Parts: sequence; structure tokens; C-alpha cells
Amino acid sequence: MCIFCKIVNGEIPNNTVHESDHFLAFHDLYPKAPVHILIIPKQHVDCFQVVSPEMMADMTPFIQEVATKVGIDQSGYRLITNNGADGGQEVNHLHFHMLGGAKLVWDHSHEDPHKSI
Ligand code: 5GP
Ligand code: ZN
Repeated sequence: MCIFCKIVNGEIPNNTVHESDHFLAFHDLYPKAPVHILIIPKQHVDCFQVVSPEMMADMTPFIQEVATKVGIDQSGYRLITNNGADGGQEVNHLHFHMLGGAKLVWDHSHEDPHKSI
């Protein structure tokens, strides 16, 4: 069972922000912004590439509710899903990173195959 499924069924504790029958939002253990929340479906889905449009349709208002609940719906936020190896996905259970609480930098650097070190 993946670590996010263990969080869903309570085997691993989490700092829950918002919950519904189908979705869970909790604080990232290693925040990369003042607000860094992970938003997941309770049902295991590997990644964005295989999620159904129906699940995404249900997930959209839940994500919007999370932003409102933590008070960044007006100030703004970034929503990211890392998909697969090149996308840097480390946990293979679909999740959206909601980052906010400060003006974020925009940096999508990639590993340069020509660099000498
Ligand atoms: P990915 O790199 O797959 O897009 O993101 C995985 C995220 O999960 C990372 O930001 C990492 O900090 C977070 N993470 C990994 N393990 C745990 C955990 O046990 N609890 C919580 N709350 N976050 C975790
Ligand atoms: Zn899972």
C-alpha cells in the first residue's frame, strides 16, 4: 500500500486541512512555501495521466474549498501535480500541491546534461 493510502486509512498520521467522502487535504511534511498542502483522492489513482475526467470534475470544487478554508483564495496560489519520472513524482498516488502564502518564484529548471559537475 502506498504512503498516501496509509494516510487515508489512518496508518500514518497527517495534519488534515479539509476532508470529504472522496478527497483529503493535508499539510505537506516538508513545506516548500508558507502554505503547502497536498490534495488527494481517497481512492488510489497512480497519477494525473490516468485520472478520470469524472474524478477531476468532483475534485475541482474540493480544491477550491481548500484554498478558501486556508484563506489564500484571494491572495492566490499555485497548483501543481508532478506526473511521472520527468515530472519529479515521488509518491505514486495522485496529488496536487497547493502552494501559497507568499509571492512565489517561477522556476522550472531541468537537469542540464551538458553541465560539467
Ligand atoms: P511529489 O514529489 O510526489 O510530487 O510530492 C510528494 C510530496 O509528499 C512531497 O512534497 C513530500 O514532502 C510529501 N510527503 C512525503 N511523505 C509524506 C508524509 O508522510 N506526510 C506528508 N504530510 N507529506 C509527505
Ligand atoms: Zn495510494
